[in-house]
Amino acid sequence: MSQIHDAVIVGAGFGGMGAAIQLRRMGYDDLLVLEREDDLGGTWHVNRYPGLAVDIPSATYSYSFEPNPHWSRLFAPGAELKAYATHVAEKYDLRHHMRFGAVVEGAEWDEARSCWEVRLADGSVERGRFLVTATGFLSQPRMPDIPGIEDFAGDVVHTTRWDDDVELEGRRIGIIGTGATAVQLIPELGRVARHLTVYQRTPIYVSPKIDGKVPGAVRGAFAKVPLTQRAARLTGTAILEVMMVAGVLHFRNLPWANAIGKAACERHLKRQVKDPELRAKLTPDYDFGCKRPTFSNTYYPTLTRPHVDLETTTIDHVDEAGIVTTDGRRADLDVLVLATGFNLWDENFPAFRIVGRDGRDLGRWWRDNRFCAYEGITVPKLPNFLSLNSPYSYSGLSYFTTIETQMAHMERLLGAMRDRDADVFEVREEANDAFLDRMTDLLGNSVFNAGSCATARSYYFNQHGEAVLLRPTSTISAHREAVRFPIDDYEFRTSKVPVA
Ligand code: NAP
Repeated sequence: MSQIHDAVIVGAGFGGMGAAIQLRRMGYDDLLVLEREDDLGGTWHVNRYPGLAVDIPSATYSYSFEPNPHWSRLFAPGAELKAYATHVAEKYDLRHHMRFGAVVEGAEWDEARSCWEVRLADGSVERGRFLVTATGFLSQPRMPDIPGIEDFAGDVVHTTRWDDDVELEGRRIGIIGTGATAVQLIPELGRVARHLTVYQRTPIYVSPKIDGKVPGAVRGAFAKVPLTQRAARLTGTAILEVMMVAGVLHFRNLPWANAIGKAACERHLKRQVKDPELRAKLTPDYDFGCKRPTFSNTYYPTLTRPHVDLETTTIDHVDEAGIVTTDGRRADLDVLVLATGFNLWDENFPAFRIVGRDGRDLGRWWRDNRFCAYEGITVPKLPNFLSLNSPYSYSGLSYFTTIETQMAHMERLLGAMRDRDADVFEVREEANDAFLDRMTDLLGNSVFNAGSCATARSYYFNQHGEAVLLRPTSTISAHREAVRFPIDDYEFRTSKVPVA
């Protein structure tokens, strides 16, 4: 039998690395981090499309305990995020725990040995006292099920599998999708394409992007006086928090806050697009916040250029030469870009089969009942399991707020377990139910329930029609609960197996 690691962590992105840092801080040194890609960084390793940049101010989109004074722009380009991930892995000595190209197929709780048995695609098995899944929300690319797509004779590229060898210069490019990814990519494609056709099914709210280079003097100040960068972080976090809490979560009581966000996007559209017909096509018919809005100063102007068309007629099929819409019109293409996003609810949640105590199959249980994880991290009957990408886990807008809240939860939970000389924790079913009831009540005030989201096609909503991705509380409240949750919400026990 293979050794039993302290923890098997699945995913070497910022979530998995945060969990590894926390476990190391608590003295768990035998960690195995399994990553299906060939390097660390998660999203920032996988996504390499032209125009990729973070859409949260960089001072905020980083670990608070590892500020990076070197961001070149207010919204750093993707390559800097990947470099930051590499830096963190090196500084915190994480790389030697990582195994790349390791595709996990399933995990099962072994009650007799009080450990998780993790099966990999290569047939091997790894064991861990704890199982941490950090597999991301946006990690299973969605391929559109459009008839004939496999017949297309030109180049097809999904944004998560960007291929620099595909020639774009001077070619006829079609792009399907107008989500946050497409909004970053379209201006880049517009710069080089002979002709660009943008296939939009649902328009997105786009607000102005207050971006720019961070002057050397400011970077110097951030490096020399970290307090200055902390102040910048606090400002960024406060703005995002107000947008999220007032504009989205308290929609019922503060509709004017939501209206401010909506008006800012509408003004931006009006300023940048003079043609009323084009403007109408780009105007969302759902409330602001139902799906994630984005920022760009170059998206709308690109759509006004003479060699760029916005196509809103439904795609009927793809053939060898291009795309045919339901009105019989066709666009001949050389390159087809799929900016079609991610499959969250069918292939994720969880990303692979996870079976806990008494045969509880997490994916089946969530689907047959309701999606919930206590405080967005633990699940009844799944002992010693920490699920970082859970229902109600995403708190605020910067993913790092979520990660650090979960690190705080881990510290309190595992500390309490040790204080009791125990080595197994499990959240109580009643605590999970009470948490779900509370989140459900809070969601009632949010734009997701109180607003008009029916036409948004937002990935925030699951197959039950519930918007359970985001935690409907402030980040301050999420963090407070992570450090103060009632310890009695958990049951602790001592396994019969001596810990090696
Ligand atoms: P997305 O928001 O899910 O957008 C996918 C797009 O593809 C939508 O416009 C969707 O239309 C369209 N689509 C999917 N299947 C289609 C089909 N069969 N026919 C026609 N259209 C189809 O995905 P994304 O743009 O990749 O963004 C996902 C998330 O990633 C963002 O919300 C954001 O959180 C994150 N992101 C972050 C950054 C950053 O920080 N730098 C950058 C990019 C993305 P419908 O809306 O009609 O379904």
